[in-house]
Amino acid sequence: MPIKNRYAELHSEITEWRHDFHIHPELMYDVHRTAARVAELLREFGCDEVVEGVGKTGVVGVIHGQSIASGKAIGLRADMDALPIHEATGLEYASQTPGKMHACGHDGHTAMLLGAAKYLCETRNFDGKAVMVFQPAEEGGAGGLAMCQDGMMDRFGIQEIYGMHNMPGQPVGQFAIRPGALLASSDEFEIIVTGKGGHAAAPHDAIDTTLVAAQIVVSLQTLVSRNVDPIKRVVLTVGTFETDSVASNVIAHEVRMKGTVRTLDTEYREFAEKRVREIVEGTASAFGATVEIAWSRGYPVTMNTSEHTVFAAEVAKSIAGNVDDNVDPIMPAEDFSYMLEERPGAYIFLGNGDTAMCHHPKYNFDDEAIPFGSSWYSGMIEARMKMNTN
Ligand SMILES: [Zn+2]
Ligand SMILES: [Zn+2]
Repeated sequence: MPIKNRYAELHSEITEWRHDFHIHPELMYDVHRTAARVAELLREFGCDEVVEGVGKTGVVGVIHGQSIASGKAIGLRADMDALPIHEATGLEYASQTPGKMHACGHDGHTAMLLGAAKYLCETRNFDGKAVMVFQPAEEGGAGGLAMCQDGMMDRFGIQEIYGMHNMPGQPVGQFAIRPGALLASSDEFEIIVTGKGGHAAAPHDAIDTTLVAAQIVVSLQTLVSRNVDPIKRVVLTVGTFETDSVASNVIAHEVRMKGTVRTLDTEYREFAEKRVREIVEGTASAFGATVEIAWSRGYPVTMNTSEHTVFAAEVAKSIAGNVDDNVDPIMPAEDFSYMLEERPGAYIFLGNGDTAMCHHPKYNFDDEAIPFGSSWYSGMIEARMKMNTN
């Protein structure tokens, strides 16, 4: 199963869809134009069912194989949303909306999955149902969770689900995957420390909140260095630090900090929250300050199931020749993780060549990756729901 010849013919058409999405980036759940275009194309291809408004603005297209006797249904997922970044690529099809940009390649993911949908509608060389999932709000809005909470898995009978992300720095068309944790979980916290403001020359009459908060920042770093098994992967970063003093001769009354904890080991999510609370409360009380801590759970660990990872790697290998099937995990988070919490499946990286990194104003999706991505999506359907040739 090398790159399918049909994708050589479809390449320019899929590229046009991609450039159209790129010109018109939309954020979070506000992907109305993109979703409408996706639904229009899915209907044009002849999908057996096209449902809009799943998880607010998600779209699902169902394609029946020549037979559906196997009773199988497999989900393939792409994301549709862009980022609040001002594009600096200078491309002729650059964003026409200042401050919005497809800087993560979701335009490419959506176009590649549409290409696979067109091919699968033409050929239907499988036994079962292919469920094409186009989700909104991957970039921080948990659109994947919204689609799951809308009952997508049961409603369309999805038994397994697969997703893909382009990867700058890997050769175009090279796939990489691993069983188990591929991307981290991401949780956020906000800490408000209250001491007692005062005159900089009379610290004995104040409780110096800046000093207390600084101790907290330093102590929090012991969570990873002293409390976590060195073999495990956890990272904690305090990203903001704001005092309410704007003068050099004023001791702050209040300090606000925000940070994030990422891990590839699910058991450390609860541990990190518990330990952060202990360190923050203990340190504050040692200095006579008080604290409020708000903790918010973000995306879970993206956890590939072993059997499905092996399968996804085999399909990738048949397309690209070789595949890195034990790639190092990375610490960003991905909301396909919610779909993998509901159903087994796998997430795979597809090389995007020597481009700027995702979320950079000069990033661009490489159109040469399209035949590889579309081939993998449709290959998963044909290989996982083979026609009975007897
Ligand atoms: Zn992104
Ligand atoms: Zn992305």
